[in-house]
Amino acid sequence: MVDILVIGAGLAGLSASRKLADKGYQVLVVDKGKSVGGRLASRSLESASFDYGAQFMTAKDPRFLNQVNHWVSDGTAELWFRGYPGRSENYKRWRGIPDMRELARSLAGALNVKTARQVLRITLQQRLWRVDFKDGSVIYANNILLTPPVPQSLEIMDRGNTKLSQDQWFRLKQLTYDPCIAMLALLEGPSKITSPGILVPNSDDIDWISDNMKKGVSLTPSITIHASADFSRRHFNEDSDEVGKKMIELSKSWLGVAVKHFAIHRWRYSKPKYVDAERFMLIQNNPTLILAGDAFAGPRVEGAFLSGYSAAEVLIAHFEKHQAKSY
Ligand SMILES: Cc1cc2nc3c(=O)[nH]c(=O)nc-3n(C[C@H](O)[C@H](O)[C@H](O)COP(=O)(O)OP(=O)(O)OC[C@H]3O[C@@H](n4cnc5c(N)ncnc54)[C@H](O)[C@@H]3O)c2cc1C
Repeated sequence: MVDILVIGAGLAGLSASRKLADKGYQVLVVDKGKSVGGRLASRSLESASFDYGAQFMTAKDPRFLNQVNHWVSDGTAELWFRGYPGRSENYKRWRGIPDMRELARSLAGALNVKTARQVLRITLQQRLWRVDFKDGSVIYANNILLTPPVPQSLEIMDRGNTKLSQDQWFRLKQLTYDPCIAMLALLEGPSKITSPGILVPNSDDIDWISDNMKKGVSLTPSITIHASADFSRRHFNEDSDEVGKKMIELSKSWLGVAVKHFAIHRWRYSKPKYVDAERFMLIQNNPTLILAGDAFAGPRVEGAFLSGYSAAEVLIAHFEKHQAKSY
């Protein structure tokens, strides 16, 4: 039996879990992925390394700025660049060191995290949550924080016939996401993209190119290309070779060097198109079920962090109220 089960080890799940664990609560975090981070995604391919999900973080809210300052002071993050060439805003953009996934790894630290555990459904059973995993195992939890992208959370709840009010159902159904096809490409030599290694092309098909070597992520020349939502929607189910060739053709004039080898990653849920008015959604209390993630507090790393943080605050307040009553 678990007191608090957090489903999803992205930034929302991890920021909540850290806050709860720091207060002394027993938390188990489960994620279907091989490692923590979710859309804070980094990997190696042959000799090169890539950030292929979130590229940087911005910080406006003091609570997230405080976390970013911690990361900077312990060497987990650094300022990457400010503003964009040709644009008037001058916001700071930080990156993880050595890569974006490290931000998640640092929060996961001493937490009890189990990866490669996919939740199939959650079912309310005699004042407890029964949690069924894809591998056939079952655990019971007093409280659940559900942080996958909302359509995936809805599937998990639907399969267990979780009751939602009409208002909750309507709000959740609105929270749809754009897809994004990411290309991870090893280059024959250094690209012509200048320092700090970013290119925001004026294109309907390509949204973003980053040079992982100039960013400091990769020791060998490599780039990450993010296709636009429109291109990604049109080509989402296409063969990787085909879609990759199209993305190379669209980008070659900006790279100035040939692509040696590439891999394609498909983000079905990349960034939320709409964001809910609340920072999290309390589905029910005793046993508690809360939904959190970037669809609630902003479609960014900062939003995900704040959503998880706010959900944890509410859980803590709830526990403290109940403890006070039982004295
Ligand atoms: C291509 C791309 C580029 C981006 N660029 C930026 C950027 O530059 N700056 C920025 O601020 N933001 C950016 N973002 C957005 C940012 O990455 C997200 O807002 C943030 O990481 C979301 O965190 P989260 O915890 O809400 O969700 P996620 O990171 O998606 O975490 C949810 C977790 O739930 C797990 N999960 C799902 N289903 C199950 C299940 N059934 N059982 C168990 N676990 C499950 C997943 O494996 C995942 O780890 C980008 C996103 C993408 C995809």
